[in-house]
Amino acid sequence: MARILIIEDNPANMKLACLLLRHAGHSVLCAVDAETGLALARTDQPELILMDIQLPGMDGLAATVLLKQDPLSAGIAVIALTALAMKDDQDRSRAAGCDAYIAKPLQYRQLHATIDALLASRLPPSPDAPPAASAGDL
Ligand code: MN
Repeated sequence: MARILIIEDNPANMKLACLLLRHAGHSVLCAVDAETGLALARTDQPELILMDIQLPGMDGLAATVLLKQDPLSAGIAVIALTALAMKDDQDRSRAAGCDAYIAKPLQYRQLHATIDALLASRLPPSPDAPPAASAGDL
């Protein structure tokens, strides 16, 4: 299980996200604004961040750009969360450096599928795994 930082200003959404993540066995860190979240990301090194896009002050996309620019936090996976039904939100999230995107309200299965996929892609290769095919074989 992973250590996950939630950056979310809406208390009801924060409560739900905490509940879902803890239920799945993750340990959860919380921040209600981007500045606090960025500081926690550096000091506590979570494996993954759930980043609300709409935050007071600095928004989640600007915060993600800063996270991904900082070598101390660049390796942390970021899932953007938005309630906006804007068509280009996903594109803007990707452009800011977010690794995935989820539309609120949070749904248990989608949240965990997204988290599990991101965490799995970050695991170091198993020593038992066969060697990857080499481009030299072509
Ligand atoms: Mn918000």
